[in-house]
Amino acid sequence: MSDWIKRDREAIWHPFTPLRGMESPLMIERAEGVNLFTSDGAKIIDAISSWWVNLHGHSHPHIAKAIAAQAAKLEHVIFAGFTHEPAIRLAERLLEILPENQSKVFYSDNGSTATEVAIKMAFQYFYNQGINKKRIIAIDGAYHGDTFGAMSVGERGPFTEPFDPYLFDVSFIDFPEEGKEAFVYQQFKSLVEKGEVAAFIFEPIIQGASGMRVYSIALLDKMIALAQRHEVVCIADEVMTGFGRTGKLFASDWLTNKPDVFCLSKGLTGGAIAMGVTTCTEKIQAAYRSNDLMKTFFHGHSFTANPMTCAAANASLDLLLTKESEENRLRLNHSHLSFMKVIESHSMVRNARVLGTILAFEMNTEKDTSYFNEARHYLYPYFIGKGVLLRPLGNVLYLIPPYVICEKDLKYVYQTILNFLNHPPKSEETQP
Ligand SMILES: *Cc1c(COP(=O)(O)O)cnc(C)c1O
Repeated sequence: MSDWIKRDREAIWHPFTPLRGMESPLMIERAEGVNLFTSDGAKIIDAISSWWVNLHGHSHPHIAKAIAAQAAKLEHVIFAGFTHEPAIRLAERLLEILPENQSKVFYSDNGSTATEVAIKMAFQYFYNQGINKKRIIAIDGAYHGDTFGAMSVGERGPFTEPFDPYLFDVSFIDFPEEGKEAFVYQQFKSLVEKGEVAAFIFEPIIQGASGMRVYSIALLDKMIALAQRHEVVCIADEVMTGFGRTGKLFASDWLTNKPDVFCLSKGLTGGAIAMGVTTCTEKIQAAYRSNDLMKTFFHGHSFTANPMTCAAANASLDLLLTKESEENRLRLNHSHLSFMKVIESHSMVRNARVLGTILAFEMNTEKDTSYFNEARHYLYPYFIGKGVLLRPLGNVLYLIPPYVICEKDLKYVYQTILNFLNHPPKSEETQP
């Protein structure tokens, strides 16, 4: 074990990482494009965009320059009572590309805070009007972040078990798998028609953390229409799906009926720095416009709208909105579709699916599809050993690479997966 890894072990507690039985973390020295370079010179293709955040490749010079220039000019200023150009420009540009009904931008720190803000915004929207609506609907398998509000509206399971007594009550509808849409719609309808529902929060058309599960656009459209007829605030958590991942700029662009609130993060800065955004309609903000101080939205973070972060997001938008980036997303989609044809009839593969730049499938193992499915414990080291970063969710293997991944690297990743499927190693062979 190198000295650095010893020092890491001494001083650091890593996220989502058991303290026993895990391999040592890899020491990354630099990264460029889709490649991570370890301190001993190994190259790893980042096929999951470092937890779904990276869009344009690592250490992108355009983003790096924008951050550096902003750091030298105005690194930070309190955002209550003050404002600045990078924040204003970013808000305007986001509103320009979001659905037309979006009218105000609220800044925060990450994806979890973006959903916290959305939930609080929706609850206080009714509170300010003296309307007694307290219930919130979410979908089974949902993931909206790791803070308490976000955990409350997410799937309850082994990860949340220690905290379950502290989470607020939420009505979960079933995940609308194919063939179950009518049933789920009825579940949703009977909840909404009770009239106590304040908000409906969802990951539009694809759930990320539950295993890149795609569901019906038509159903979601119908649910939003019904919800909006009953004055239920519809919150689209686009933290994972935003900024081109699903083949459109936002997953909600696939919908006819537009959600009232959007949560953004991850790809917002191109994956360079943490930032959260919650946007809402004029109607929602109007409920806060009052001489009564008590109707203020009392929420804020020390680093709200940090200028360097806004500069990174503006730079990322410059890149995202180029023809080249759009072509990359299309190319990625076509390559994924061809590869899906190759693997979908493989005996090891179930439910292969592609949505935009995302490809996912389940591996045939005896156990159910879940995070704790043991497949991940040999899949992860297997692929790292081949120079590819893949981090399966249980036995769901998925690709969500930066849009700039070239055909050669993509072919290599596909071939590595194919080799694995054709000759799956015994689990002992890849154990540390
Ligand atoms: C990752 C994610 C979050 C949480 O974002 P963090 O920045 O990790 O707090 C929320 N919602 C969805 C859909 C996500 O994928």
